[in-house]
Parts: sequence; C-alpha cells; structure tokens
Amino acid sequence: MATLALKFRPRTLADLVGQEASVKALANALKRAKASGSISHQAFLFAGVRGTGKTSTARILARSLNCLEGPTPEPCGKCGPCTASEQPDRNLDIVEIDAASRASVEDARTLREQVQTLPAFCRYRVYIIDEVHMLSRQAFDALLKILEEPPPHAIFVLATTELQDVPDTIKSRVQIFPFRLIPVSLIEARLKHVCDSEGVIAEPGSLRLLAEAGQGSMRDALTILDRVISAGDGKVIEALVREQLGIVPAERVKGVLDSLLAGDTVAILDHCDALASIGSDWGNFWKELMLSFRDHLESTARSGAPPHEAMRLSRMLHLLLQRERDLRDTSLPQVVVELALVTAAQLPHLAPLESLLKAPAVQQIGHQAQQSATPQPAPYQPPPRTPPPARLSAPPQTQHKPAPPSQAHQVSQTQKAALATPAPAKQEAAAARSIDEIVEENPSLGQLLEDVGGEVIGIKST
Ligand SMILES: [Zn+2]
Repeated sequence: MATLALKFRPRTLADLVGQEASVKALANALKRAKASGSISHQAFLFAGVRGTGKTSTARILARSLNCLEGPTPEPCGKCGPCTASEQPDRNLDIVEIDAASRASVEDARTLREQVQTLPAFCRYRVYIIDEVHMLSRQAFDALLKILEEPPPHAIFVLATTELQDVPDTIKSRVQIFPFRLIPVSLIEARLKHVCDSEGVIAEPGSLRLLAEAGQGSMRDALTILDRVISAGDGKVIEALVREQLGIVPAERVKGVLDSLLAGDTVAILDHCDALASIGSDWGNFWKELMLSFRDHLESTARSGAPPHEAMRLSRMLHLLLQRERDLRDTSLPQVVVELALVTAAQLPHLAPLESLLKAPAVQQIGHQAQQSATPQPAPYQPPPRTPPPARLSAPPQTQHKPAPPSQAHQVSQTQKAALATPAPAKQEAAAARSIDEIVEENPSLGQLLEDVGGEVIGIKST
C-alpha cells in the first residue's frame, strides 16, 4: 500500500505548499517557455532542508516541460509523458541520480557521455541529481563542463540540503531556488485535506501536534500521520498522537500549572513522579508547560486582574525560563524541573527582603530593636529554646566551656569558617524571623509594608 507521503505527493506546481516564491518563478519560466517554444534556462538548483518538496518539484518540472500540451505550468496529467513521469524508474527521459552513491569521477564521465543521447520519446531528458553537494571535487569539475555547454535537449535539476557545500562555479551556472521550511499552519491544513480525502476522522488539536512535529517538513508530517492512523485503527486520536510523539498528556501539563499557581509543592512533586513513571520527555514537557503558562499570563493580563497578579505571574515565568539552559545541560532533567518548579511555586509567598530591609523606616525599627536587645534585668527568663534565638542575650560564658580538642570532634579551619558564616538560607530565615517579630511589635508596620510595594503579599508566620 502506498504511503500517504507518496499518495499525496504534489503533482503540479499548484499542489506545492509553502514555496510560493519558487513556484511563482518556475511558473513564469514555464509560461515564457510555452510562448517561445523552449526553456531559457537548462540548469536549476533547488536548495533547502529535507522534506520541503525539492525532488517533487523536480519531477513536476520534468512533467511540465514534457507534457504534450507544454512546456506549460499546468501539465495535463493524461498524456504519455505526464503518466510516464509518475514512474521515473521506468521513464528513460527522467534520470534520477543520487550523488551520494554516484560521486566518483567515473560516474561523472559516464554522465557526460549519457547527456549527448537524445531523449527516448519526450521533448527533454531531465537529469535530477539529488544531494549534489556529496559529489567529489573531480566529479564537480566534470559536471561543470557539462553545465557550461549542455546539449539543447538536456535539463539539469540539482537538489541539495547543503547549499554552502556546492562550489561557486556550479552555482554561477544554475538558477537557484530556495525551499523554505513549511509553516505549521500550512502543514496542518494539508494534513486536514489528506484526512478528509481518506475519510479519516481526526480529533481536534491532533493535527496541529502532527504539523508541529513535522518541523517544517511535509513529508515527515505525513509519515507520522501514517503511523498514527495505523495506531488509532483508522482514526487520529490526540492521546495516541501525544504518546507516539512523546508529548506529555495535556491534563498533566494543566495539573502542574494549577499546582504551580497554587504554590502546592507536594502536588508538583507528585506530578513529576507521575511524569517520570510514564517515561516523559522532560524537554517536551517543559516546552508545553511554558506555552501553557504564557497563555495563562496573557489571559490574566487581558482579564483586568490587579497589576500585581500579572506581575507575580511574569516573575514566575521569568524565573522558570532562566532554568531552561540548566535543563539542556543536565543529565538529571527531572531534578532540574522539580527544583525550578518548587522554587517558582514559593515565589508568591516570599517578601522582597532587599526592598524591605533597605526601607528607611524598617532600618529605623531595626535599630530600635537592636537597642532594646541590650542586657536588662528581667523579672522572668523564659527557658531557652533549641536552638536559642540569636537575639536573646547569650548565656554566661562559664556554661559554654569549649570542649577539649579530640580526634573525633576536631573541627577544621574550613568548618569553623563555614560555621562562622551563616548560610544564605539561615540568613534569610533569621531575617524573616526578625521581620515577623518586628511586625508583631509594631502594628503600624502593616501600612509600611504596603508602601514598600505591591509585592508584599504575605509573610509566612514562623
Ligand atoms: Zn500531459
């Protein structure tokens, strides 16, 4: 059974999708050829990534030149040359050469002799040389000699994915046509047309995923469609498409996004475990999540939500996007994803300490608090907590005799330095605690916090 890519291969210039500029130029050249009776250029170079229609266009060109009603941009599709072009293997006047396997000087010499032979029954003999950049230097030299003085009945269509590897001497002898990546929307429309023609039912959204997976190549998208139709027993089912393409289920992405927005770190970690259990591609998941987050941010901003809410979301998204490089470089993608998500989920609950601590009023209160912490006789001394709060006055030195150094408890200089320098987390915790206490002691601070900026949404009680 013919594959969909073969069955729906473009057969006229009008069938070609996404290559408007090249199609227009070729159609004009064919119109001029029709008016004058012969084509003005005999050598063409089609350059572009795989699956964008280069070889198909070469065959269409051969058919357009040889149709009994041609040369014409609209070959009839019924005459002998047109039907023969459907089977290039049996058509002596279409010679397809794979440069990768016919790159030797000997092959080039053979070609040079061959091109002198008149066409078997068509107007032109068309030589399609695929992956032409694979030719050896000597073979290019031989090809150049052919292109310098081509016999009037010979047409050359060179195709390459690596234009930069084709010598300039060759490029100067040919008309170059760029073949661009086909936009997703055009691939999706073509897939819809194929499904409708084949009587295949496609679930909404599934064809978009397939079109994106094609990455600009119609042939690749059609090949995946073939596979998905087989797996879905004649239907295109979105869940199967996601499975085939390694795309994370949509409801899972939504679940992670909801947990992220709710600051529910436990749920986030549960979702990540579930993703790992089905062998998800973390790169794909990340991309889907970022796009969903971006959509949520847009709808929030457009819904007239308070500015600080959109600001909170954009800060979260910014933080997540900063982790993208880590995801590319790591051998532990799940850990990177979990770390990034948990950090972002905590973001709304953190006060911007820097701005708080720099505020003059806070500094003044901090100064007062420091002064009040000087040793004073107290009627009641609460029992020391573990660990004792830093701001409580230190117990008498006598109770803290340093232990005699022993082999087991010896502390290195590095460890001492580490102990002396509080870790950032400890610093933050200490700062959060002292602010909490300051808030308790100074009810007017609530208003002050609002004045510092809309960022202060809530400070966790410790
Ligand atoms: Zn025809």
